[in-house]
Amino acid sequence: MEDRFWDRKIELLPREGLEALQTERLRETVQKAGRAPFYRKAFSQQGITPEQIKGLDDLRRLPFTTKQDLRSGFPDGFLAVDRSDVVRMHASSGTTGRPIVVYHSRGDIRQWTDRVARCLYMAGVRRSDVFQNMMGYGLFTGGLGLHYGAETLGAMVIPMGAGNSRRQVRFIQQFGTTVAHIIPSYSLKLLETFDAMGIDPKKDTRLRILVVGAEPHSEEVRNRIEEAYGVFAVNCYGLSEMSGPGVAFECPRKNGLHAWEDSYILEIVDPDTLEPLPDGETGEIVLTTLRREAMPLIRYRTRDLAMAHPGTCSCGRAHRRLSRIKGRTDDMLIIKGVNVYPIQVEQVLMVFEEVGNNYLILLDREGPADRMTVRIEMSPEMRSRGRGELEALRKKIIHSLRGEILFTPKVDFVEPGTLPAGEGKALRVIDNRPGGET
Ligand SMILES: [Zn+2]
Repeated sequence: MEDRFWDRKIELLPREGLEALQTERLRETVQKAGRAPFYRKAFSQQGITPEQIKGLDDLRRLPFTTKQDLRSGFPDGFLAVDRSDVVRMHASSGTTGRPIVVYHSRGDIRQWTDRVARCLYMAGVRRSDVFQNMMGYGLFTGGLGLHYGAETLGAMVIPMGAGNSRRQVRFIQQFGTTVAHIIPSYSLKLLETFDAMGIDPKKDTRLRILVVGAEPHSEEVRNRIEEAYGVFAVNCYGLSEMSGPGVAFECPRKNGLHAWEDSYILEIVDPDTLEPLPDGETGEIVLTTLRREAMPLIRYRTRDLAMAHPGTCSCGRAHRRLSRIKGRTDDMLIIKGVNVYPIQVEQVLMVFEEVGNNYLILLDREGPADRMTVRIEMSPEMRSRGRGELEALRKKIIHSLRGEILFTPKVDFVEPGTLPAGEGKALRVIDNRPGGET
């Protein structure tokens, strides 16, 4: 029964078949979108009628949709069906007062759920698995999205939600949890709890897969997670505007995340010129929904930066593969005139085995010049070292960072437990520069 989530017909569809399917679904999507007030107006302003969109080449004639558009369309500007056909809504936190709202019809929820089940099956999750969902439930899509996907696949789901580390560890043991869904930085933080409870996650638990998502992370962080837990740490990508998790997911070959092109059209564009970029070049991910009923979105600018890997995957799936997210355009820091993404710093730090899992980037201004300080929590191994050895390590880290970010940062080692660490997404940057944002 679970085998229905290995959808060979769709997953192994050759490129031409996939594009034919996308063409058909793009036409339907444009028709549907035209019923929403925002697109009705946008199409008429650009002199486009849905009937003119005949093939994938016509996609470029359609306008982009931005986060700002979604905010200004609050609450119902993007709704393409009758309110009575909506069965659920999700919303972003909306620090500015107007959250981004995404409505789902019954069909949307079913599509999303089946897609998540497909992702999990591809990663190796089966109905015999015990799936501990350590993501926040509620308006955030990470919790419910994976919950329904895993349950539909037939796994036993433990809906823990985020936080309460000791109880998480106890449940992993008591119920023989084999798969967990967890934020990557929290999975590293949780190692301290395992340690304090005298439990080795590798030897004393049945964990075999960790689904890590909701936070861009580096390959080095994945390696650390896999090493400490003895698991396959599968990378997943999604965003609530595109329903949630399950937009793209890694297959066990670990060479990129298959973006499900039967459900989305994937474009990578230059974030400045908005011109489409070829596979292999990094730019902003732009997505068009192909199956959504209540709230179709056209050419949505995600602000996430990645590339599509050229060529096909040895697993046989023709769906293109996204690289790891290299940053969000929102996260980009301009320091001494240089563009820096926090993940670049992480990549460098995590290569040093001695360095602990928690770090913080502090920005301030000294006179007219920006100053960047990287605070690193010391691992037990570092604390046992002499001053001279620590100094040598600090110099090596500074040297590697300079090679990556092209200027010389300050590096401080601090005692374990002194940097802010929560149970949600990690705080990695504090910008104290005048006009800077924390
Ligand atoms: Zn693959």
